[in-house]
Amino acid sequence: MSNGYEKGFTLWFTGLSGAGKTTLTAAIAPELKARGVKVEILDGDEVRTNLSKGLGFSKEDRDINIRRIGYVARLLARNGVGVISAAISPYREIRDEVRTAIEHDGAEFVEVFVHCPIDVLAERDVKGLYKKALAGELQGFTGVSDPYEPPVNPAVTVETDREPVAESAAKILRELERRGLIPAAGARGSGA
Ligand code: ADP
Repeated sequence: MSNGYEKGFTLWFTGLSGAGKTTLTAAIAPELKARGVKVEILDGDEVRTNLSKGLGFSKEDRDINIRRIGYVARLLARNGVGVISAAISPYREIRDEVRTAIEHDGAEFVEVFVHCPIDVLAERDVKGLYKKALAGELQGFTGVSDPYEPPVNPAVTVETDREPVAESAAKILRELERRGLIPAAGARGSGA
C-alpha cells in the first residue's frame, strides 16, 4: 500500500572526523524507520573494513572509496531506500559527481555539512587522532594535514559545537519533510 513516501533519497553527510556524522546517523535512522522509511546506512569506517578494504588515504584511494559509496547509494536510492552516507568525503568534485549520478536516477541527494571547528574536534578527540595530527605525527589526516573542501551550498549545515544532537537531528529531519521525502512525525497514515 502506498503512503506516497516511497521516493528514495540519499542523505549525504560530509564533515571532519569526530564532527558528528556517526552520531547523527544513529539519531536519525530509527526516526526514519519509525516513519515507515526503508533505511540503509553506509558508514565510512564500516565501508573501509568491508567494501573498501585495502584502500588507503591518498587522494586516489579516497576518491575510489567515495565513488563506491556513491554507487551503492545510487542503487539503493533508486529502489526507494533512504540511504544515509556517513563518510568524511573531503573532495567537493567527487561529492558532486555522486550527486549527479543519484539525481540522474531520479532520487534526491541531500547534502548535510556536519561542521565543527578544529579546536573543538581536538578537544573531543573521539579517536585520539587530532592530538597526533596537530603534533605533526600523522600524515594525511583530513582537516589538519590533508585537504577538506566544505560544501558550497549544502541543503543543511549543522554546527555540532553549539547544537545538542537532538537539535541537529531535528534540522535534518525538517529538511527531509520540507522536500516531501518523509512524512511529518505522527503523520503516517494507516489509511483507516
Ligand atoms: P564522526 O562520525 O563525524 O567521526 P562521531 O559521531 O563519531 O563523529 O563523534 C561526534 C562526537 O560529537 C560525539 O561524541 C557526539 O556525542 C558529539 N556531539 C556533540 N554535539 C553533537 C551534535 N550536535 N551532533 C553530533 N554529534 C555531536
